[in-house]
Amino acid sequence: STFAEIDLGEALNENIRRCKYVRPTPVQRYAIPISLAGRDLMACAQTGSGKTAAFCFPIVSGIMRGPPAQRPQRGGMRTAYPLALILSPTRELSMQIHEEAKKFSYQTGVRVVVAYGGAPITQQLRELERGVDILVATPGRLVDLLERARVALQSVRFLALDEADRMLDMGFEPQVRRIVEQMDMPPPGARQTMLFSATFPKEIQRMASDFLENYIFLAV
Ligand code: AMP
Repeated sequence: STFAEIDLGEALNENIRRCKYVRPTPVQRYAIPISLAGRDLMACAQTGSGKTAAFCFPIVSGIMRGPPAQRPQRGGMRTAYPLALILSPTRELSMQIHEEAKKFSYQTGVRVVVAYGGAPITQQLRELERGVDILVATPGRLVDLLERARVALQSVRFLALDEADRMLDMGFEPQVRRIVEQMDMPPPGARQTMLFSATFPKEIQRMASDFLENYIFLAV
């Protein structure tokens, strides 16, 4: 099968062609239809498997087709309300995801912003003020932004946790839990969550049962 056979919306399909992706990798072949069908997903997949596109394509497609953003203003003018959140353990991985997500979002009107620690926050705040649909973030920096009320998560419809096992190894479990708890408890089906991990130890199994609803398990 090819990407041309998967209807992700014209603009995204065009961007996929531009990236010269023709055939989905195994994780993409299974994860994308599951996500397009609205199901939560726990996927065991390694770096290099094509997992970034596996969670980005349904997010970009879903935002393009979804209802217009409902962004409450109670947080104040300078609070950003992303529709999708991609959590990643490191600055390097966040930057990579941001670069890929921008290619996939080209000329779709979907705006991607990245926020990571170990870098001045000022430029990231300026980017957030210009609006954000997809926020790619490391857990520590995102907690900082939530505390400053510069980001609020009540509008998040898509949550992706990338390399969840590495986030736990780096001690980010409290931050990750705080972040997920900040999201309003959605009516069933209102928020879609995708959890990606290279390994599936007990801690990840517990996270899956805490964060996911009626999920499909995928190991590639
Ligand atoms: P990832 O596992 O997401 O880090 O992706 C690994 C590499 O494979 C990246 O350089 C992607 O751009 C590339 N890639 C992902 N999916 C495909 C695909 N279906 N066809 C060709 N290259 C791909």
